[in-house]
Order: sequence, then structure tokens, then C-alpha cells
Amino acid sequence: MSFSSLGLAPSLLNAITEIGYQEPTAIQREAIPVILRGGDVLGAAQTGSGKTAAFALPLLQSLLQASQDRRSPRQLHGLVLVPTRELAAQVGEAIRKLAAHLPQPVKTAIVFGGVSINPQMLALRGGADIVVATPGRLLDLIDHNAIKLSQTSVLVLDEADRLLDLGFSEELNRILELLPARRQNLFFSATFPPAVQRLADGMLHQPTRIGV
Ligand code: AMP
Repeated sequence: MSFSSLGLAPSLLNAITEIGYQEPTAIQREAIPVILRGGDVLGAAQTGSGKTAAFALPLLQSLLQASQDRRSPRQLHGLVLVPTRELAAQVGEAIRKLAAHLPQPVKTAIVFGGVSINPQMLALRGGADIVVATPGRLLDLIDHNAIKLSQTSVLVLDEADRLLDLGFSEELNRILELLPARRQNLFFSATFPPAVQRLADGMLHQPTRIGV
């Protein structure tokens, strides 16, 4: 099984070749076609499984499609919520590499707490295509009118179990209320205790279960 049989755009296949991935991991083989068709996904995924590219590649492909018929100003296409600053940096970097050969430049913003908000507000001027964020700082930026979620097409929850372990449940609920009801949801977690399952049940629309 090769990446080229998954339905990905040539510009994404070029990036994959350049990065040096030879063939898709199990979660990539299962998740990418489902996400490309627009479906919700509930994925059981450990770090090291290749989950980042499993959601980032189809996210970039739907952005590519949306921006080809874009006439309006840049809107936030994809929001990726992560529990920690380290994961935000890592996921943001992975998305930037995978986006390197798209015909139009992709603006990916990485925002997290514990550092000054001002540079992040400046970086968001003019909008972003994809935002990778920790929940608390995202809400601060929304309160400062630096980000609007009302047009977001795809929501990714990465490491949902850690998001809840770190006490982000209230922040997640506030963020969910600000997102449009019609959107694609991609939910990844290493473990599925009841609180994680409830969050998934409340968020996902007829999800395809992968590795669960
Ligand atoms: P992740 O589980 O997304 O944190 O990815 C774990 C590591 O696997 C990262 O260093 C990725 O760059 C790498 N990786 C992701 N997909 C592939 C692939 N298809 N082939 C080889 N390495 C990969």
C-alpha cells in the first residue's frame, strides 16, 4: 500500500517524498480516506503511530480545495487543539512541512499559554488557515478578537485524554460552543476512560472508529 493510492493531491505526495515517508502507517491507511470523504473520525492512537500526518494530510487537502474557490478573505479552516505547548510546536511544525509544496502558501499559527500574547496576536493579523492551539490561550485570543471560530470547517482534538487530564474540560466546552455546528470532527486519544468517551459522544457525528 502506497501513499499515492490514498487519494492525496500531488503536492502533498511531493512533500511526503521529500520528508522521506515510504509507506503509510496503519492509522494513516485507515484514517486518510475517511477524512478525505468528509467523515468524522474517532481514533485510538498512541504517539509514534503517525497520527499527526493522518489528520494533517487530509486537513491540508480540504484546505487546498477550499482555497481554490476562495474569493473571500482568509478564514480559519482548521483548528487543532492540543494539551501542551510541546505538542503544539511539534504538530505545527509537522503541518508546515507537509504543506511545503501546496500551490498557495498555507498560514499555520501555533499558539500556547505561558508566553506573552502580543506576538501571537500579531502573528494572527490577516487571519490564519490552520491554528494549532492549547485551549486556554485560544480562548484568550478569541477574547482579544484575534481569532474567530465561526467559519471553521475542521476541528481536531489531539490527545483528548490528556486535554481532560490537564483540566481543559470547561475550556473545551466553551470552544465547542463557538464553532459552527456543521463541521468535520477528528478525535484522537490514547485511552478512552468514560469522560473521554462522553466528550467524543457529544462531539462526533456518526464517526468511523479507527483502532478502537
Ligand atoms: P506521530 O505519531 O504523529 O507523533 O508520528 C511519530 C513519528 O513518525 C514522527 O517522527 C513522524 O515524522 C513519523 N512518521 C509519520 N508517518 C510516517 C510514515 N508514514 N513513515 C515513516 N515515518 C512516519
